[in-house]
Amino acid sequence: MKMLIEGQPADAQGSDVIPVANPATGETVDSVPKGTREDARRAIDAAAAAFKVWSEKPSIERSRVLFKIAEVVRSNVEGLATTLTLEQGKPLGESRGEINSFANTCEYYAGLIGRERGAQTPFSTGEGFFIVMKRPLGVVGAILPWNFPVSLMGWKVAPGLAAGNTFVVKPASTTPMTDIMVAGLMVKAGLTPGAVNVVTGPGAVVGEELLDNPKVAKIAFTGETVTGKRIMEGSAKHIKRLTLELGGSDPMIVCDDADLALAVEGAAWGRFRNCGQSCTSVKRLFLFEAIADEFVKAFAEKVKTIKIGNGMDKGTHMGPVHTEEQREKVESMVDDAENRGAKELVKGGRPDGAGLEKGNYLSPTVLTDVGYDAQIAREECFGPALPIFVVKDLEEAIERANDTSFGLGSSVWTKDMERAYHAAERMQAGTTWVNSPPIARAEVPFGGFKQSGFGRELGIEGLDHYYETKSVQVLEYGKGKKWAFPIS
Ligand code: NAD
Repeated sequence: MKMLIEGQPADAQGSDVIPVANPATGETVDSVPKGTREDARRAIDAAAAAFKVWSEKPSIERSRVLFKIAEVVRSNVEGLATTLTLEQGKPLGESRGEINSFANTCEYYAGLIGRERGAQTPFSTGEGFFIVMKRPLGVVGAILPWNFPVSLMGWKVAPGLAAGNTFVVKPASTTPMTDIMVAGLMVKAGLTPGAVNVVTGPGAVVGEELLDNPKVAKIAFTGETVTGKRIMEGSAKHIKRLTLELGGSDPMIVCDDADLALAVEGAAWGRFRNCGQSCTSVKRLFLFEAIADEFVKAFAEKVKTIKIGNGMDKGTHMGPVHTEEQREKVESMVDDAENRGAKELVKGGRPDGAGLEKGNYLSPTVLTDVGYDAQIAREECFGPALPIFVVKDLEEAIERANDTSFGLGSSVWTKDMERAYHAAERMQAGTTWVNSPPIARAEVPFGGFKQSGFGRELGIEGLDHYYETKSVQVLEYGKGKKWAFPIS
């Protein structure tokens, strides 16, 4: 598959390619060009030229194109979802959901644009007024991870295009294909060619060009915290605008008055969807002493029913881990916890069975008696392993939950809304879900506290991050001059 530059399929300057592997079988699905800095520059120039056209379009036209994109993407859901499952590994049902969520995001911003209100405000001193204008930024570099390649592209391009910006998208090298297909459909739906370009290639090459190039006004990045730090450094040279959506180690607190059946379902959904590879996966589970035994028993039963397999097969609940490297990282975190005394409530490991030999499969692991010093308690575990901690009350749970450098998501499960608000106020995380697994919604701002990043995607706030705020100050003629030089 080729890249997409100026609305056209494009080869890289050289002939090197990056093979794309199916995590379920190890087979090569296809390959994409190994883009160079020169290819990235070509795409940046195309985006800069398209900006002149796209940003001048009235908002009603940008809105119509975004609605049309949503329609075209929805009507291609099967082909897109299949490619996504083949390159990423998630079950087909989850892939369909991801493609539809891209369309939802486009529709949300298509509906929002043109409906904002401004105001003309008199100066407090009376001799004039000011207006606050919103201006698009220009070319945006969108750097994406592999866990939700399509929906996270939508979180960036939908608000960014609505506001009048144009894009160079750099997908993760292991999941470039569905993004290229979606970008191609966007052009078919009427998007100005060059308004969204996709350049494939290593982060250290294509990504670094986006950071270095002065024509790129903003970097919208989703990925690991350690890469986010490099993005910050690299963007400093030109003081680029930044949105950083980074890692998480989300706590889930189950209080003694929670609906336990619901919380068991929520924990399974929250930890094992996308094989545990979501930024807001439940990564630490805190149970009140009073309900711990009952919860643990029901949860273990639930987890044992999870059916592992190829995401293309009907009936698969959980696909493979995305890469072998990722699988080994999760295994080493489980080993570390066990070496420190943790017990396997549900035994994980590499499953055997027909069809599972060649994929990066890993069974769900649930750990109890985990020490707070274990890696799995302190770092982000990006895979299907969950540590359980028992706490005496909400204060202890919140204190433990906050004892991390991350602050992305969190959840509290209780029937007492006063308790829920109390927890939501105190949990240091960009989102607290109450009696819900981590579900992102187009209208709700999303982002991190602490080292989980800054800036917000989605919601009205997500649109605002694609504008410069410009103030226009007007002195009204005839209202008297209140300034003079020299100043006396
Ligand atoms: P990653 O940081 O390894 O890679 C992300 C992207 O950055 C890739 O496209 C990569 O090629 C690129 N990159 C790498 N080095 C670069 C450089 N020097 N300059 C520019 N670009 C560079 O992340 P990943 O492994 O693909 O994704 C998983 C991580 O993403 C997890 O930590 C997860 O929590 C996080 N994540 C966060 C959110 C959120 O919204 N906060 C959402 C999804 C995933």
